[in-house]
Amino acid sequence: MTHTIKHHLSDALLMAYSAGSLPEAFNLTIAAHLSMCDECRARAGAFDTVGGALMEETAAVEMSHGSMAAALARAKAAPAEPRVRRTRGGVLPAPIQAYVGGDLDAVAWRPVGMGVKQAILPTEKGATARLLYIPAGAAVPDHGHRGTELTLVLQGAFSDATDHFGAGDIEVANEELDHTPVADIGADCICLAATDAPLRFRGLMPRLAQPFLRI
Ligand SMILES: [Zn+2]
Repeated sequence: MTHTIKHHLSDALLMAYSAGSLPEAFNLTIAAHLSMCDECRARAGAFDTVGGALMEETAAVEMSHGSMAAALARAKAAPAEPRVRRTRGGVLPAPIQAYVGGDLDAVAWRPVGMGVKQAILPTEKGATARLLYIPAGAAVPDHGHRGTELTLVLQGAFSDATDHFGAGDIEVANEELDHTPVADIGADCICLAATDAPLRFRGLMPRLAQPFLRI
């Protein structure tokens, strides 16, 4: 990859990913970034190691009633990962191709106005993952944020009030950030954006992140 990635995943997100506590849409977005970013892949590996060590030393805490059954049901319901051969020189990273069933030409785009198109990927409830297609020079139509939003650039680049984001960069936004991403002139911009249902993510993140961050 010629573009140098400068916007990475936060420690909190990498730890939550490692702990397996994020909704599927976030896992997908993070996995896609990790497939593009050596730096975050290395950091994720370190958190996996820390998590494993902590697990062994942590005293057991009783889970809420029914959580084991719920986890088992989720595991059962999870579809087998489809085998998709990654297109050589494709735009979509392998984790996304697995959801789309191919590369860009397999995406079922729907127009959302002003030339922008989107395709919502099939993930479990709790968070939504969508591919966004923003024509060169166009802005994403106004959309409200609830909770956390991860935006991973797959092709082209966009800018908002905070910075410039190129291929492989990931923007982590919360509801306090009001932004209007505008695609660069010169190339259509394709992103994967994940937004969560606040309840699941918010409560869990601080609780998870705090003990880890003190290490
Ligand atoms: Zn990274």
